[in-house]
Amino acid sequence: EFFCPDPVALHARLRPDSLACVDLASDCRWTYRELDTDIQRAVALLHHEGIDKGDRIAVLARNSVYQIILQQALMRLGAIFVPLNWRLSQQELPHLLKDCTPTILYTDDEVSDLPPGCRSHSLVSFASEFAALDPAPRCLPHSSSDTCIILYTSGTSGMPKGAQLTAQFLLATAMNFNVLGEVDTGCIFLCDTPMFHVIGIVTQIWPPMLRGGTFIVSPGFDAEKTNDRLSDPDFGVTHYFCVPQMAEALRQAPNFEPEGWTKLKALFTGGAPNPAAHIRWWLERGVRMVDGYGMTETGTTLGMPLSRDLLYSKAGAAGLPGPLTTVRLVDEDDQDVPDGEPGEILVFGLNVIAGYWNLPEERKGSFTEDGWIRTGDIGRRDEDGYITIVDRRKDMFISGGENVYPVEIEAVLLEHPAVREVAVIGVPDKRWGEVGRAYVVAAPGQELDQEELARHCQSFIARYKVPKEFRFVDKLPRTGSGKVIKYVLRKEALEVH
Ligand code: AMP
Ligand code: MG
Repeated sequence: EFFCPDPVALHARLRPDSLACVDLASDCRWTYRELDTDIQRAVALLHHEGIDKGDRIAVLARNSVYQIILQQALMRLGAIFVPLNWRLSQQELPHLLKDCTPTILYTDDEVSDLPPGCRSHSLVSFASEFAALDPAPRCLPHSSSDTCIILYTSGTSGMPKGAQLTAQFLLATAMNFNVLGEVDTGCIFLCDTPMFHVIGIVTQIWPPMLRGGTFIVSPGFDAEKTNDRLSDPDFGVTHYFCVPQMAEALRQAPNFEPEGWTKLKALFTGGAPNPAAHIRWWLERGVRMVDGYGMTETGTTLGMPLSRDLLYSKAGAAGLPGPLTTVRLVDEDDQDVPDGEPGEILVFGLNVIAGYWNLPEERKGSFTEDGWIRTGDIGRRDEDGYITIVDRRKDMFISGGENVYPVEIEAVLLEHPAVREVAVIGVPDKRWGEVGRAYVVAAPGQELDQEELARHCQSFIARYKVPKEFRFVDKLPRTGSGKVIKYVLRKEALEVH
C-alpha cells in the first residue's frame, strides 16, 4: 500500500504546456496545467456540494473529458466515481442506484426513480459551474488501496455486482498496458469506448495520462468518423483500443482506408475473442492488430508485443502477463497445469479489484484463499509463455463486447405466462461475435410467439441481452438431477452453424 498516484498533477509540473486531452463533442482542449487546474476547480465544486471521502457519485452520460475531470476530482477527494451503462433498461438502473446509493447522479438525460438521498444534476452544468470557481487548496493524497471507481458487472447469479477498482488497480493497468504496448510520452490515444466499461474509463485513458501523452475523447463510437479521425494528420493518432466488433465495423465502413493511418503504432483489441484469421487479415494490410486480455475485475492482464513477426506467428494468443501481474493456469483442484494443457486463469497483482460493493461474501466465491482471483476463463500457455484463451467456465457470452449472463435472461423469460422452461446460450454471429438463442418450452395450453417474447424481454433488460432467436422445443436436455445440460445445446448449435 502507498499513496494514491496523481499523474495529472505530476505532468502539470513536468510538461505544463503539453496537450493533455481533447473533447470532440465540445471542441475543447486542455494542456496538463489547464487540466490540473480544472480538476482542482471541480474539487472546489464538489466540496461545495458536500461531497466527502467515501461518497459515491454516479454518472449516466455519453463520453466526455468532463467525466474524466469528475473522476479525477473525486479521486483527489477520496470519493468514488460510478459510471452507469446507458444501454441498461429503466427496470435495471434503479437496482444499481439502490446498491451504490450515490449522493449525486450527473447525467445528460432525465432519470426517474432516484433512490432517497440522491439528487440529479446535469453534467453540462457541472462543467460551467466549476469553471467559475477558484481551484481548491490541495488535500493529502489517499491510500492506493481505497476504492475510487465502482463498475457494475453481472455475474453467473444474474445480479449486478459493483466491482471496486482501487487507485493501484488504475495505476497497474496503465503500467501493464504501457510496457506491453510500448506507450511513450508522444502517444496520442483516440478514445471512443464507453466510459462505463473498464476499457473506456481506465485502459484508454490511464496509459496516456500516466505517460503525459494525449487522449482524444469522442462522445461515442461511429465507424465512419473513427476511420476519418484515424487518417487525420491533425490528430496523428498513435494508439486506438476497441473491442473486436468495433474493428470489424471500421473494416466494413465505406471510408475504410488503413493506408492513411500513418501515425498509428497499433490497433489494440480486448474484451472479447479476436480470431487469428482476423488478426492476420489486418497485419497483411499493414495495421498491427494487438490482442490483449483483461476483465472488469483485473484490468489489463495479458497483452501481445508489438513485433509484427510475433503478432503473425502467435495470432490468436492474448499474450504475456503485464509486469505488475502474475497468472496461473489451474485444473479443477487448483493444481497448476503443464504448458499446453487448458486451465482456468487465476490472476494476482495490483490490477485486481478489492472486492464487490456491499457483497463481502462474493469476494470469497471469486478469490482463492491466498488471494488469486478466479476469472472463469480457460487458457492454454505455449512453450514461450504466451496464453491463448480457449474457453469459458462461466455461463456467459459476449455480444458486441457486452457481457451477457443467460441466467438473467432466463429469469425474465420465465416471468412470461406462456413460458414453462427456458435455456439461453450464446451462438456465433458474424456481426456481434455472439448472440443469444433461447430454447423455450411452452406452458400447458399456451402458444409461443417469437415477437411477443422479444418484446417482453425488451421491457425488462437492455436490448443487447435480448435473444436474437427463439427455438420452441418440447423439452430441454437435463441431467439426472434436473439441471439443463447447456453444452449439449451449444454443441448442437456449433454443428449446424
Ligand atoms: P469484462 O469484465 O466486461 O471486461 O469482460 C471480461 C471477459 O471478456 C473475460 O472474462 C473474457 O471472458 C472476455 N475477454 C476479455 N478479453 C478477451 C480476449 N482477448 N480474448 C477472449 N476473451 C476475452
Ligand atoms: Mg466486456
